[in-house]
Amino acid sequence: MRLVPLLGDQLSPGLASLRGARRADTVVLMAEVAEEAAYVPHHRQKLVLVFAAMRHFAADLRAAGWQVDYRRLDDPDNRGSLEAEIVAAACRHGATAIRMVEAGEHRLRAMQQALAAATGCTVEILPDDRFLVPLAAFERWRAGARRLRLEDFYRWQRRETGVLMAGDAPLGGQWNFDSANRKPLPRGLKPPPAPAFPPDAVTCEVIDLVTARFPHNFGEVDRFGWPVTRAQALHALHRFVAERLPRFGDYQDALAHGEETLFHSLLSTSLNLGLLVAREVIDAAVSAVGAGAAPLNAVEGFVRQILGWREYVRGLYWWAGPEYGALNALGATRPLPDFFWTGETRMACLADAIGQTRDHAYAHHIQRLMLIGNFAMLAGCSPQAVSDWFLVVYADAYPWVEEPNVIGMSQWADGGLMATKPYAGGGNYINRMSDHCRGCAYDVKARVGERACPFNALYWDFLARNRAKLAGNPRLLRVYDTWDRMSAEARTATRAQAAAFLATLKPARPGWARAD
Ligand SMILES: Cc1cc2nc3c(=O)[nH]c(=O)nc-3n(C[C@H](O)[C@H](O)[C@H](O)COP(=O)(O)OP(=O)(O)OC[C@H]3O[C@@H](n4cnc5c(N)ncnc54)[C@H](O)[C@@H]3O)c2cc1C
Ligand code: SF4
Repeated sequence: MRLVPLLGDQLSPGLASLRGARRADTVVLMAEVAEEAAYVPHHRQKLVLVFAAMRHFAADLRAAGWQVDYRRLDDPDNRGSLEAEIVAAACRHGATAIRMVEAGEHRLRAMQQALAAATGCTVEILPDDRFLVPLAAFERWRAGARRLRLEDFYRWQRRETGVLMAGDAPLGGQWNFDSANRKPLPRGLKPPPAPAFPPDAVTCEVIDLVTARFPHNFGEVDRFGWPVTRAQALHALHRFVAERLPRFGDYQDALAHGEETLFHSLLSTSLNLGLLVAREVIDAAVSAVGAGAAPLNAVEGFVRQILGWREYVRGLYWWAGPEYGALNALGATRPLPDFFWTGETRMACLADAIGQTRDHAYAHHIQRLMLIGNFAMLAGCSPQAVSDWFLVVYADAYPWVEEPNVIGMSQWADGGLMATKPYAGGGNYINRMSDHCRGCAYDVKARVGERACPFNALYWDFLARNRAKLAGNPRLLRVYDTWDRMSAEARTATRAQAAAFLATLKPARPGWARAD
């Protein structure tokens, strides 16, 4: 008998470990375990999402003729860890062989490597070919690359896959349309709502379980509406392509008060669980260009996120190793302020982004990068505290994707391995891209004074504080020049304003952070 354990983010019918396996002599093992549920105190919607999707997937596998051994979190003899459940299942089914797809994170890869000794079975670990770029190919690209930049990686992938290519040239004659893709949302333009999927009986049972077992975890659970089956995820994909993709490019960098999704796809949870695979999502978007249903700037902008960013951060995570998560190039040590958990702040932009994170376990990319991440970096928060927070609060968070995005892209804690300069912005940037400032208690035009927007003084304080590390960056020369041209009094007042604001921040109470 062969045991095929499936991890909670391996919910793909075409998974490598299922392909070619004979149903008659294979047992598929799926286990909800406390160790995975609690290694960080996940947002409750994340827990519901993963367990509900696992239960639905197990039912689909059974309907397709597979023998599934499903272990529920509330089974009285649940052994609490994946390794213990696999060892017990191997024994229960008299397995002589274990076949698994490689886990998506360092912690679980180590567990997989210990399985042969723990079970006495032969263990076969297969590459995760739901990603488009095998890790060995990423490594070959990296070894030959002059620099580790997304843009180079993405162009290489466009050529390799032929996606949006016309022969050797990019379709439309341009590799990217970023300059056309930075529009603020015009007044009166209402993005179509993203589809929501009301919980069925299976999901309701999981909601009750999670509410009882994790009563103190962050996040609301009553508005749960994530896709938990492949059929729902495909529906969400088709609705996105038809309704929001055409304007995805124009407004991909926009922010708007009370607009939680804008024209974003909300497909990351389904992609990261395996309900959808990258290639089919890319193909669906590309076919919209062919059919004249979406413009090239929109489709290219979207494809870049998946063929580019998603594959790139995964390659970087594995190449950089477990040490990457501990990097702190700017030596930032401040604890996270408590409003990251409560959402209670007078800064309208952050109250909005954190509030919707609590309600939906979702924020779109610019909210994560230019509001929340930007604030944390300007305030000098510890990148590890920031990374722990991001891993906890989003329904799509897994270390392979969260860590590079936080440590590298958002906090510049890798010293520029990923981003040519820190993604830092003051109030002006937020005001240009959003309508938040109109309803804010702070004055976005002011740098000092009682009502001054905190982002302004913090922005300059960040640059002044990190001068030794950043001033040599050619992309920051003009900014430092502007700072230097301010009067000495203005610079002193700005830094005093930042210090006074930082002194008002209450650190988050202990207990929210990593639980292991
Ligand atoms: C600080 C920070 C933390 C982040 N943490 C996560 C995380 O834990 N999990 C996660 O999936 N994404 C993360 N991202 C990337 C991105 O913000 C989310 O993928 C996106 O907001 C998900 O919403 P969406 O599906 O509507 O995305 P869309 O804007 O519609 O983009 C389409 C898809 O592209 C992919 N994608 C887009 N940007 C990125 C990126 N930078 N890295 C990897 N994939 C990307 C996602 O799969 C996404 O579903 C993070 C970004 C930042 C700045
Ligand atoms: S004024 Fe400053 S704090 Fe307020 S919404 Fe604008 S950028 Fe955010």
